[in-house]
Amino acid sequence: MTVEKTDTLVIGAGQAGVAMSAHLSKLGVPHLVLERSRIAERWRTERWDSLVCNGPAWHDRFPGMEFDGVDPDAFVGKEQVATYIEDYATKINAPIRTGVEVKSVVRNAGRSGFTIETSEGVIEAQHVVAATGPFQLPVIPALAPEDTRLTQIHSAQYRNPAQLPDGAVLVVGAGSSGVQIAAELQQAGKQVYLSVGAHDRPPRAYRKRDFVWWLGVLGKWDKSAMEPGTEHVTIAVSGAHGGHTVDFRDLASQGIQLVGMTKSFDAGVVSFQPDLADNIARGDANYLSLLDEADAYIERNGLDLPPEPEARNFLPNPECVTHPILSLDLAAAGVTSIIWATGFALDYSWLKVNAFDDSGKPQHQRGVSSEPGIYFLGLAWLSRRGSPFIWGVWHDAAHIADQIAMQRKYKAYQAASEVSTAA
Ligand SMILES: Cc1cc2nc3c(=O)[nH]c(=O)nc-3n(C[C@H](O)[C@H](O)[C@H](O)COP(=O)(O)OP(=O)(O)OC[C@H]3O[C@@H](n4cnc5c(N)ncnc54)[C@H](O)[C@@H]3O)c2cc1C
Repeated sequence: MTVEKTDTLVIGAGQAGVAMSAHLSKLGVPHLVLERSRIAERWRTERWDSLVCNGPAWHDRFPGMEFDGVDPDAFVGKEQVATYIEDYATKINAPIRTGVEVKSVVRNAGRSGFTIETSEGVIEAQHVVAATGPFQLPVIPALAPEDTRLTQIHSAQYRNPAQLPDGAVLVVGAGSSGVQIAAELQQAGKQVYLSVGAHDRPPRAYRKRDFVWWLGVLGKWDKSAMEPGTEHVTIAVSGAHGGHTVDFRDLASQGIQLVGMTKSFDAGVVSFQPDLADNIARGDANYLSLLDEADAYIERNGLDLPPEPEARNFLPNPECVTHPILSLDLAAAGVTSIIWATGFALDYSWLKVNAFDDSGKPQHQRGVSSEPGIYFLGLAWLSRRGSPFIWGVWHDAAHIADQIAMQRKYKAYQAASEVSTAA
């Protein structure tokens, strides 16, 4: 059996794999990228039809290439993102092989490098970069009812309202996916129940600057770790319909019934935590704190950005917040489907190396794992808050490429000294 050899194998050709290839090429590191489907596949087939970026086109991209023919302040659609990543790969002539799945990666015994089993043969590489995504396996919590009369899907499987049966919908989870899907279903004429947990909800824009700009100049994309206690706080933002602040009171005024965290299902009745008002208040506090920080930044830097006092006005709390429903008989309410917008897990079952902690979480420092030669890229909080996003992964890829180039230098020194000793 012939074994193909490369210095660095990158697994996955989403934005992370393409950014990795760009940086490896820049440093002259021979490499190959394997992708089990197509470039940027998840943007093409694992997102709902109407999804647009959460950030504007000037921001949600790699440095060095703009979105062709797109207003920089517009929110591009998911297909355009996929095309952009594909075009970028073409521009840099990335050595990507599509339709090849990596089945396993194991460390070689008694010699350096790794042996990689793929759907198309065996490859050996000195370095392996796992760029298989921050959002790999849709997670539906164990409390989901076993009720065959209900259609239950994860947000990753949601495409459009026509996919669901007639009847009301319960959307569980009010991060960016949950709120956008709930709003789309409500606009399509469905009665929607939206289960809202702890969340941040930055203003879409404030004093003429988008929130992505504010998070950038305030250093928040670069924060290296989550605030303690915020592990379960999601972020609710939307670029839909030209972009707007996620406002739960406004969603309620349009007819969406807000409920607290989903607690349990029993005999067709779902119970909710009595935490809705708290969750809304916490989201408000997060929103207002960003306005305060933005105001202080403007003053400190003497910027000429118009005041926007009306951004601090909220609609009155709707009835569903002041008198929340704590349980709902699904059949009586006509609920025929549940959408679980409850996040994702990682799956590295194919990566059979010593790069995980006892709980199975990748163990790494800025993507450099505890198994020498194995690197992770694209994970949430890999090095900073911006790490899983298009613009953030670029900087992490630069660091990892640098680390690989450095290791290659050490190996070259060893090889050269072996030659001179032999001579
Ligand atoms: C609903 C949603 C909206 C988002 N919106 C934005 C946004 O507006 N802006 C933004 O910057 N980010 C956004 N993100 C976050 C992030 O940009 C995306 O998740 C993005 O897809 C991550 O890119 P990636 O390359 O790290 O991983 P992925 O896109 O997941 O790519 C990983 C690739 O690896 C391949 N792969 C997996 N396993 C193997 C294997 N064993 N062998 C070979 N190939 C394999 C997969 O097929 C896939 O193509 C969003 C995420 C979600 C879920």
